[in-house]
Amino acid sequence: MTKNIGLSVTFPKQNCTDLHCPFHGKLSVRGKLFEGKVVSTKAKKTIVLQKESPVYFSKFKRYARSKSTIHAYKPSCIVIEEGDTVLTAECRPISKSVSYVVVEVKK
Ligand SMILES: [Zn+2]
Repeated sequence: MTKNIGLSVTFPKQNCTDLHCPFHGKLSVRGKLFEGKVVSTKAKKTIVLQKESPVYFSKFKRYARSKSTIHAYKPSCIVIEEGDTVLTAECRPISKSVSYVVVEVKK
């Protein structure tokens, strides 16, 4: 059974028994959203994603690139490949560096 998580996202087609899944498990989603490009899927249930945003330096009247990288939990019902754009939502801390879950994959 798929749970409504309060965000307008497309639900995953597969079912899973993952406890940390926002759709089928007990994990609730609240707070910020983070959209980024998947940089690494080497870890078992964690992905690394990165977002690039321009920062303006008024002294030089120029933009510089800044990157922010986060770790996010990958529920077993969502299939992700490197290079995908994914939307993650903030949740309770799952481990030391993971406090976001993947909720949608945007190709
Ligand atoms: Zn699931």
